[in-house]
Amino acid sequence: MDQIKKAAELIVNGKYNVALTGAGISTESGIPDFRSASGYYASMDPMAALSRDTLLYNPKRFYNEGYRILEDLAGKEPNKGHKALKKLQDLNKLQGIITQNIDNLHTRAGSAPVYEVHGETRGVHCNECNGPLTFEAYKEKVHKGEIPPKCDICGGMLRPNVVMFGDMMPPAFEKAYDAAKRADVMIVVGSSLQVAPVSYLPQFAKSLIIVNKERTPYDRDADVVIHEGCGEILTLISEEVEKLL
Ligand code: NAD
Repeated sequence: MDQIKKAAELIVNGKYNVALTGAGISTESGIPDFRSASGYYASMDPMAALSRDTLLYNPKRFYNEGYRILEDLAGKEPNKGHKALKKLQDLNKLQGIITQNIDNLHTRAGSAPVYEVHGETRGVHCNECNGPLTFEAYKEKVHKGEIPPKCDICGGMLRPNVVMFGDMMPPAFEKAYDAAKRADVMIVVGSSLQVAPVSYLPQFAKSLIIVNKERTPYDRDADVVIHEGCGEILTLISEEVEKLL
């Protein structure tokens, strides 16, 4: 396919390439995204359920709805898409991954560096003293009916290490911003590019490759656009890059 070749050539010629991934890269691992027909928006309002205000002022709703999204991520495995990006890193043709995902699957696939701009679900921390706890220990508290779960050190409210609607962006976003500004090529994978401020990042890259099942607001400006499943397409691109090196 011409588009695969063109994408591979751009990547081979780029000296500093980054990927920007969204929920779509993990649907092939069995995790729903937000905005596809079968995504979370079909059954709830994630913007309200996973918001800072809901956690603080309506914890019952948070643990009945938003928290379920976090638990759904457990036990899922990296798929062909995550592995293809890891392969590009091993070939020294991908210098970083900016991810909006909170499912830890890029790090589980062995990728580094990964800029987790919306946080992660390996752990939680106390809203008062910042004391850390593993996600597993937090989950145990929730399952015992401790709503909201409390910090063992100071009794403050525990919260996931996830950037929720209404939260500030974490330091990882600064690094992602710097990486985007440096990028010769950005490969956008499985993102509707509708969540700010991450949705501003593609404009900074010199060349843009988009692999997404549906149209995105950046399609018109991209050098390569492929509207297909990303596991297969990223595998083909990484194989083509290897051939060209
Ligand atoms: P989104 O739901 O807005 O968009 C996902 C896009 O991926 C859609 O345009 C869809 O067509 C496409 N897609 C789905 N499956 C695909 C596949 N196999 N191949 C190619 N494209 C595919 O997701 P977003 O842009 O990441 O933004 C929403 C927010 O969702 C993010 O902030 C993220 O934190 C959160 N989220 C994360 C997870 C996760 O960690 N896995 C899951 C759900 C939501």
